[in-house]
Amino acid sequence: MAKMSIDDKLGLDLFYTDEQNPHITINEDYDNAEEIHKVVLACPAGLYHFDDGKLSFSHEGCLECGTCRVLSINKAVKSWDHPPGGAGVMYRQG
Ligand code: SF4
Repeated sequence: MAKMSIDDKLGLDLFYTDEQNPHITINEDYDNAEEIHKVVLACPAGLYHFDDGKLSFSHEGCLECGTCRVLSINKAVKSWDHPPGGAGVMYRQG
């Protein structure tokens, strides 16, 4: 059996997203570029973007690793909770 890349493994994961109730919210007006770059670079799913001085985020595809919470709660990250029961990521390859 061929060895799978991380991207291939992540591509097998399933996500049940509650589109109306994001489990992570951001401070959209937060403007400390140094702090913002930390979450942009650290999120393994690449869900944070900082373009033209504006922070944006999508909770869809979140791996629930908690990295952004540790790095930036009460800074770029406004709130962080686990998704409600039945929602979130379902890992298929560890
Ligand atoms: S919990 Fe992990 S995967 Fe989800 S947004 Fe934060 S850093 Fe990205």
